[in-house]
Amino acid sequence: MPSVLPTTISGSLPKPAWLAHRQQLWAPWTLEGEDLAEAKRDAVRVVLRQQEEAGIDIVTDGEQTRQHFVTTFIEGLDGVDFESRATVKIRQRYDASVPRVVGPVSRPRPVYVEDARFLVSETARPVKFQLPGPMTMADTLADEHYRDRAQLAMAFADILNTEAKELAAVGVGVIQFDEPAFNVYLDDVNGWGIEALERAAAGLDCTTAVHICYGYGIEANIKWKETLGSEWRQYEETFPILAASTIDQVSLEMAHSHVPGELLGLLGGKDVMVGVIDVATDEIETPEEVAAVIHRAMEYLPPENIVPCTNCGLVPLSREVARGKLRALGAGAALVRTELGA
Ligand code: ZN
Repeated sequence: MPSVLPTTISGSLPKPAWLAHRQQLWAPWTLEGEDLAEAKRDAVRVVLRQQEEAGIDIVTDGEQTRQHFVTTFIEGLDGVDFESRATVKIRQRYDASVPRVVGPVSRPRPVYVEDARFLVSETARPVKFQLPGPMTMADTLADEHYRDRAQLAMAFADILNTEAKELAAVGVGVIQFDEPAFNVYLDDVNGWGIEALERAAAGLDCTTAVHICYGYGIEANIKWKETLGSEWRQYEETFPILAASTIDQVSLEMAHSHVPGELLGLLGGKDVMVGVIDVATDEIETPEEVAAVIHRAMEYLPPENIVPCTNCGLVPLSREVARGKLRALGAGAALVRTELGA
């Protein structure tokens, strides 16, 4: 692990066609039963080797074992009906087919702990594992029981906390909560979002992180971003609260985004996963382009606090493009480390 600028990805990577249908969100699995379980393990091995050879320091399973970053976790819970789904508008921008909460939510058994144990056993590198954040969970379902998003998010936070502690116990070094909803419901973040997040992360003895982004490079998100004006200042409202929170690492989209660099200064002392790879284009960055974004971040943050990362998940891209982007990320960070003599 390098002493500065350790690289990581925000989470997902595309799945091979022998595991799931190509380049789709929520892609259906290709296999079932034990064949599916074996294919998932093989896909995890493949993405680990790809990250390692690309020079990614803190590796993930690329979400090879889950169909979706939120709903797959929810499907592991009681109190949720995921067979007769409902269609709701999520993140205030697109319709999605989601599970329905029909009673008190609880976790009858661990959801990802066996997957995490396998992941840790397959690599010598530090492992990061992603869980959905409580606010984003509450925004990715139809709630027919609590009818109160804050109350539902707190119930999820307690469940996430139990799961996270078990993930840390099997050797996960970084637990990242994915909270794209933090860039949408700014008042609620302040009202109860951060409180729910801290509750999910309470008492964890590993590194804790929160990923906040402008979403995958899909049509609905590209259109939404066009409405956000010439400067994206959503983080400006949440970063001061996150700076005062117990969470160790916070993410920020920097590659090709309209996020003003000075917002990095609002995170006082936190490590920042700086997005240096654009996930909304098939164009593969050069190492020099990646290094240039890291330099821009270094205008506001010491290199010791920078974790070069992707803007968001790479799952909608082709495997070939994603692999190129991983290599650019590793090579770009290595360029800057060399300049720094690190
Ligand atoms: Zn994201």
